[in-house]
Amino acid sequence: MDRFEVTIAGAGVIGLAIAHAFTSSGRFKPEHILLVEQENRIGQHISSRHSEVIHAGIYYRPGSLKAHCCVRGKALLYEFCDTYDITYKKPGKLIISNDLGVEELEKLAANATANGVTDLQWWDEQKLLREEPALRARHALLSPSTGILDSHAYMERLLQLSQDRGMVFAPNTRITSVHASAQGLEVVSEANGLAQGSSKFHFSSDLFINACGLQAQDMASRCPDLEPCHIPALYPCKGDYFSYSGHNPFKHLIYPTPEPNLRGLGIHSTQDLAGQLRFGPDSRYVETLDYGVDASKAAGYATAIRSYFPAIEESRLQPAYAGIRPKLSGPGQSAADFEIAGPTQHGQPGMYHLFGIESPGLTSSLALAEKVLNSV
Ligand SMILES: Cc1cc2nc3c(=O)[nH]c(=O)nc-3n(C[C@H](O)[C@H](O)[C@H](O)COP(=O)(O)OP(=O)(O)OC[C@H]3O[C@@H](n4cnc5c(N)ncnc54)[C@H](O)[C@@H]3O)c2cc1C
Repeated sequence: MDRFEVTIAGAGVIGLAIAHAFTSSGRFKPEHILLVEQENRIGQHISSRHSEVIHAGIYYRPGSLKAHCCVRGKALLYEFCDTYDITYKKPGKLIISNDLGVEELEKLAANATANGVTDLQWWDEQKLLREEPALRARHALLSPSTGILDSHAYMERLLQLSQDRGMVFAPNTRITSVHASAQGLEVVSEANGLAQGSSKFHFSSDLFINACGLQAQDMASRCPDLEPCHIPALYPCKGDYFSYSGHNPFKHLIYPTPEPNLRGLGIHSTQDLAGQLRFGPDSRYVETLDYGVDASKAAGYATAIRSYFPAIEESRLQPAYAGIRPKLSGPGQSAADFEIAGPTQHGQPGMYHLFGIESPGLTSSLALAEKVLNSV
């Protein structure tokens, strides 16, 4: 086939959710939808290097795309997990503030209410001692709707549903350029691992959706009709995770108050579906996309964690993995929103670019996909 109605670049959780939304919409022939991924498997980048947390929608600026998509996406994601048997748990999350006092938590609670998150509860020291004896905190906000999910099963199911409807999936293939032509958009792709030149494949597409995560800006710069002023700067921001061997003393996910400008959510304690405890991520702006974890950070992590988990043993912290956030705000700048840049923003018919899809992108995936579908 050399003509598609829709081409989606990137099979991370966002491209996969968009593929699911478009193939189930009834507006396009699923077999005329193409999902292209440069790796040999789905979800190998940001989408497999995160906390797997279904966020409630507490932190984000009221009225922002992040706030809307997190709250709506959370509801859609729990419904999807129930419908398609994706494993999840709702342990709930406690946000604690030992250093900054109760005022920080009050601000978060007010922000959450403005975002439509109305189920938060206040826990005092007695309640915390009873429910979480290993935790040191004077006050906490409980978010009962915060959960964790099997994000790989979620992505696999999104792909399977779209392929069952007839969508074409091209792994090991990289989109190298997209430009306007009389036939719509002219797309050039290249198969990985084959000799240069012989592997190039040209086709046309009515719509092109860039869901390339950390490479979204690079992909956009390969669209010569798009003026550079419509491509926001990328500020990659790395976070390392450490796993904790031994018993997990916590029933809930434990989060300190977030870092300034929402750079990160603080070195928090999460757990996987088997209950294995892990800590992280921290946040550090980086120049290169290197996923190595610096083992020497264990001491610093232990100090940060000790403020709310006094019994932590540093020797049980093991370097686990790292993720890199595709931020649109640099050091010292206030938090940026998700950005969906379509023809209204940049004037190029048929092109949609998703920029800055950092946390809570996993939670927001189905709502972001709905937004893209409604804007084409
Ligand atoms: C440390 C960290 C913790 C996080 N924790 C959470 C959390 O707990 N909860 C939550 O809701 N969100 C969380 N997030 C955010 C969430 O992980 C991301 O928003 C989401 O995974 C982004 O998915 P994506 O599809 O945009 O990007 P990716 O998963 O990176 O997918 C982009 C894909 O595009 C492909 N690609 C790139 N260029 C091309 C090309 N030219 N042609 C073809 N394919 C291409 C790449 O190979 C990649 O597979 C976290 C993020 C980080 C970094």
